Amino acid sequence: MTALPDPPPARRLGLVIDLDTCVGCQACVVACKEWNGGGPAGPLGDLEPWGAAPSGAWLNRVHGFEVGEGEAGRTVYFPRSCLHCENALCVTVCPTGASYKRAEDGIVLVDEAKCMGCGLCAWACPYGARELDRPSGVMKKCTLCVDRIGDERLPAAEREPACVATCPARARHFGDLADPDSAVSRLVAERGGVELLAELGYRPTNRYLPPRPGRRLAASAERLEDAPAEGGFLGWLDRLLGG
Ligand code: SF4
Ligand code: SF4
Repeated sequence: MTALPDPPPARRLGLVIDLDTCVGCQACVVACKEWNGGGPAGPLGDLEPWGAAPSGAWLNRVHGFEVGEGEAGRTVYFPRSCLHCENALCVTVCPTGASYKRAEDGIVLVDEAKCMGCGLCAWACPYGARELDRPSGVMKKCTLCVDRIGDERLPAAEREPACVATCPARARHFGDLADPDSAVSRLVAERGGVELLAELGYRPTNRYLPPRPGRRLAASAERLEDAPAEGGFLGWLDRLLGG
């Protein structure tokens, strides 16, 4: 199987996603699709893009959930993509070495020339972050737009993933989460950013910032902060992922 870098990378590049300000507009989904190989259908699904049931691999998806009912109801949008885990079992289960973690910055990637599309990595990922691209027969996942963040021809301010650059709500942030002084690390500390499914031990790099209670939500019997007895907001999110 495939080894992880030893010692672990000193840098941990990843995303911080603000569930309080994400409005579910899907702009990040479209920007991701277009930047990462939009085919003949551009940012639409690869298969039957104009048919009744378009489909295809998406490296970033945004799901919407309803919490509470009536006046106390609230919609929470949850963007989902690879979390670039430190203990990435999607890498260690890979029989060909196609899945790997970069030693210099911790980004988890797929070498498409080595991928045989067996799907083991997708089974190993508890976050549902990998999708098989049926036309090419290889596994796809978020790359943090490596071809963009490392392109020195771009102005420094533009060297960020397409989803981050596109988000009109500024709900997505990119940086080094191993650096306690980075803007993303400070944001996580200030807002109580959470690690998804921490109990599984994958040690994801990405963090999510919990929604703040709105005026109506604060009066609700089903506040996100204390809804589940086991784990508060984190438990609520874990059950969504597990469900
Ligand atoms: Fe691998 Fe899934 Fe973690 Fe991404 S989120 S590194 S695909 S286990
Ligand atoms: Fe949410 Fe920003 Fe993506 Fe829109 S672009 S769905 S606001 S994360």
